Amino acid sequence: MQKYIGKGVYGAIAIGRIAVFKREDLSVEKVCCEDTDAEIKRFENAKNIAIEQLKELYEKASKEVGEVNAQIFEVHMMMLNDSKYNEFIYNIINTKNVNAEYAVTEASDYFSETFLETDDVNLQVRSVDIKDISNRIIANLIGINTEKKHFDDKVIICADDLTPSETVSLEKDNVVAIVTAHGSINSHTAILAKNMNIPTIIGIGNCLINELRDGQTAIVDGYTGEFYLDPNEQTIENYVLKQKKDEDNRKHLKNMSGRENVTIDGTKINIYANIDGIDNINAVLENDAGGIGLFRTEFLYLENSDFPTEEQQLVVYRKVLESMSGKKVIIRTLDIGSDKQADYIGLNEEENPALGLRAIRFCLTHREIFKTQLRALYRASVFGKLGIMFPMISSEGEVIKALEICDEVKNELKNEGIKYSDNVEIGIMIETPAAAILSDRLARYVDFFSVGTNDLIQYTLACDRQNPNVEKFIDTQYEAILRLIKMSAENAHKNGIIIGICGELAADTRFTETFLKMGIDELSVAPSFVLKVREVVRKVDLVDIRRTYD
Ligand code: PEP
Ligand code: MG
Repeated sequence: MQKYIGKGVYGAIAIGRIAVFKREDLSVEKVCCEDTDAEIKRFENAKNIAIEQLKELYEKASKEVGEVNAQIFEVHMMMLNDSKYNEFIYNIINTKNVNAEYAVTEASDYFSETFLETDDVNLQVRSVDIKDISNRIIANLIGINTEKKHFDDKVIICADDLTPSETVSLEKDNVVAIVTAHGSINSHTAILAKNMNIPTIIGIGNCLINELRDGQTAIVDGYTGEFYLDPNEQTIENYVLKQKKDEDNRKHLKNMSGRENVTIDGTKINIYANIDGIDNINAVLENDAGGIGLFRTEFLYLENSDFPTEEQQLVVYRKVLESMSGKKVIIRTLDIGSDKQADYIGLNEEENPALGLRAIRFCLTHREIFKTQLRALYRASVFGKLGIMFPMISSEGEVIKALEICDEVKNELKNEGIKYSDNVEIGIMIETPAAAILSDRLARYVDFFSVGTNDLIQYTLACDRQNPNVEKFIDTQYEAILRLIKMSAENAHKNGIIIGICGELAADTRFTETFLKMGIDELSVAPSFVLKVREVVRKVDLVDIRRTYD
């Protein structure tokens, strides 16, 4: 048995056999053609077939994932009819005297590269779409049917990557999970997979996908991103139980939607959701979260090949705030470093990167990068209810400096006549022991605390969160963490500010009652855990004991 970890896109579990997704060979040769009119006719014919195929895909996707998500195929139809795209192809055929498939390949390369080079994230995404529509025409020109991927049995599809049309063309009833080597959580493919309710893991790594064979047994845990290849009997048994429990739970939890997050004694609790990007918003709304308690913005940086510009960031933050229609959205500033690295950032190699120049330390060292993000955040603040949160705080000085830079940014915007909201709340993460110990002082500077238990555990217990060998040393050692959270909660309330938890422990319902008794006001969890936490919160009775946890 081998275990691999990728990024879980849709939280559910699947056990099954692997089918390696093989793409038809669409490579084309350049052929000299004197009869250019005939080639243009071949192109037109292939394009018309493509439009018919896309109409069918639109119908299929509308039924399976809803009209909003199906719109991508309408966009593809529009792109096929785009005059610049068509003229480019005619021109290549006419001036170079080449075959239609070669001209389409050239158009595909040209437009996809042009889209990628723009500063606009929305256009960059179109690069995949242009390749998708061009491949569709080429397949039609060379007579390959890419429409239906038929699988005789229920399978786990493993691919290097999937385009949106490949994803929706999968026979949904026979696909129990999707695993890809690459892919980003913001891609249309990931959205579609999520909305098709198919357990999905992305970013599992190229070498693994290359080694897979059809028919191998595997387990996909879309909650944790864990992928087990050739699992042993014990692991299968455990997962069969986990899967059964998961399915029963899912049905049962639907009843929790629309209900209040209120304890038996009437205390209201915020149950928010954590997101990594815009595409998690659907899941946030579907699971009826009261707001967003943590937007991990570093994924915006990790998925780019250069620092995202102020404009690019503004588009994303604005979309998130608008989609939440006035509900609170806490956006965390860049938490880069340690396990989150990207080549272009040029971080120096560090002996202990988790203790290195990460998060707020990186931002205070690279003020301009920090200021670009803060400008985008303040500009977005007029589109909803924004909270800005600083990660990895370990001293008063860091908070003071970060607040100074916020003031500087606001002054600049004011001088430039750019609007921002005066009601942006500022918070810090309590994820170092130092922050918890100093929480009495830190609370004086900010509007809220949010406890990052993932790092708080790692730094308090000296257990590397990336190292599976030390997991067992964490599980029984929560007392120190609970004391630090309790101390922070008391200090937050003494200073009249609220405190939430946004690390993974917030979703661990073994602790929900304990957290509420400590006075935790907000729990922010992965979207698929919102209803489960709500259910547990509604069973807690805090009468007489609220805020007196001992
Ligand atoms: C945490 O440390 O608990 C946290 C929420 O931040 P991240 O997991 O992104 O480090
Ligand atoms: Mg953290």
